[in-house]
Amino acid sequence: MTCHTQKISQKWELQALFCFHCFQSSFNLLSLSLAASDSVHELAFLQCLSGHSRPSHPISAVLYTPDNSSYSSVLESYIRNLRFNTPATPKLCLIITATHESHKQAAVICSKKHGLEIKIQSGDHDYEGMSYVSDAPFVILDMFNLRSISVDIEDESAWVQAGATIGEIYYRIAEKSKTHVFPSGTCVTVGAGGHFSGGRYGNIMRKYGLSVDNILDAQLVDNIFFFLI
Ligand SMILES: Cc1cc2nc3c(=O)[nH]c(=O)nc-3n(C[C@H](O)[C@H](O)[C@H](O)COP(=O)(O)OP(=O)(O)OC[C@H]3O[C@@H](n4cnc5c(N)ncnc54)[C@H](O)[C@@H]3O)c2cc1C
Repeated sequence: MTCHTQKISQKWELQALFCFHCFQSSFNLLSLSLAASDSVHELAFLQCLSGHSRPSHPISAVLYTPDNSSYSSVLESYIRNLRFNTPATPKLCLIITATHESHKQAAVICSKKHGLEIKIQSGDHDYEGMSYVSDAPFVILDMFNLRSISVDIEDESAWVQAGATIGEIYYRIAEKSKTHVFPSGTCVTVGAGGHFSGGRYGNIMRKYGLSVDNILDAQLVDNIFFFLI
């Protein structure tokens, strides 16, 4: 039976990276002053996040700050490569486990406003620390919960959220058709977000090309509004 390509579009998030300089000082007075200003800064950042998320989907319910008792264990679960799980590894400020579109935009808007980097995680298969290590203060935006897949067999296309794994995509396509497939990788647990944004190859690459060759459209998030390309 001939295998037809299933063209899949992907929603992903545009990362905005900004430098934030940390100053250290041996003066106790200055240290105290910086600590106070840090907590004011953190509070302003949290207020910004709340202000930019929908009241029906409060972002406060999906935040992990160092004040949470489970913060350390949650943070460790993001560090796929244990080489980076040392006391010397710079640690992040906040984890946002987005469950609604507005959480992503709030993360982008407020991180830019407050000079924080964003590290986005989709399938958490990064062993190089790209999505959980930085010398600058940063937040992790976790896309794990945003994993819907909508397959349109008539149109031979699908919309996929960044947190879906490629195994879930194969499965949802196979539920609707035994003659369609999407050209992608062999490891079924990698996330659509990190996988597709890197090109990606798999078993049917020679016939159908890379995953990215078959992406029709993407929804990006910037600090002003959602837009499509
Ligand atoms: C066991 C294993 C098997 C693999 N097999 C294959 C294979 O067969 N074919 C192949 O081509 N590759 C393969 N890879 C490589 C894999 O596709 C990449 O590591 C990919 O980046 C993983 O994406 P992720 O979302 O799972 O990881 P993550 O750690 O979540 O993200 C990886 C990178 O992408 C960025 N990113 C993630 N989501 C987004 C988003 N929504 N918007 C913007 N940036 C984002 C992260 O910040 C990070 O820099 C494999 C990797 C592993 C570990």
